[in-house]
Amino acid sequence: MILLIEKEKLFILCCCCFILSGIVFSMKDRIITTMPITSSNKPLQGRIIVVDPGHGGIDKGSSYENILEKDINLKVGFKLKELLTRQGARVIMTRQSDTALDHQNQTYSNRHKRDLQARVDIINQNQPDLFISLHVNYFGRKFRIRGPIVFYQDHKAENRVLADKLQTRLNSIEYEGIEMLNNPIRKGDYFILNNSKYPGVLVEMGFINKEIDRWLLTHQQFQKLLTQQIYRGILDYL
Ligand SMILES: [Zn+2]
Repeated sequence: MILLIEKEKLFILCCCCFILSGIVFSMKDRIITTMPITSSNKPLQGRIIVVDPGHGGIDKGSSYENILEKDINLKVGFKLKELLTRQGARVIMTRQSDTALDHQNQTYSNRHKRDLQARVDIINQNQPDLFISLHVNYFGRKFRIRGPIVFYQDHKAENRVLADKLQTRLNSIEYEGIEMLNNPIRKGDYFILNNSKYPGVLVEMGFINKEIDRWLLTHQQFQKLLTQQIYRGILDYL
């Protein structure tokens, strides 16, 4: 009889444990399944993006008097990093200070090529969803051309798609009454585009020798607008 009661108690105890563990496991599942939903509210959650501010250090890029391309590239690069990070992306910058990257490899005797190879290495090692290389253009002749132009390499179909999405967004910028021209995307024979294994484009954000572009590119608010449109273009692409 005593043994029987204890068996019954043991049976009830086992049932309780089984039910309790079931509740705990289902709660655990709920916690696990709800957590990503909360964090994926950020549209770039889980995405890896390399931002490459062109030039740096000894290599100032294009210039006009004391306005240097390398500085504009870095300023816009930081703004772009901040925005993309806020939207959930893991952002890797090829440089975060006024420095060239040629010391990072010995692949070529040419300093400029070593710098470019280092940027390609950063892209390929991080396996990003995409990369954006930031530059400022210079054009000696007096054509009417101005504004941002997105360059791509057509060895991957995605490159053209990404370029197209970014260019559309950049062409729609209007700042202080200045409208962008309807610039088309261009195929570009650039080292970084030719040698990166992941989708990406090179954005020439404007012409440093054109007065309007120079005025725009040195304005914080315009730089911010550029990054917002690049971000929107990235969302259109993804
Ligand atoms: Zn450049």
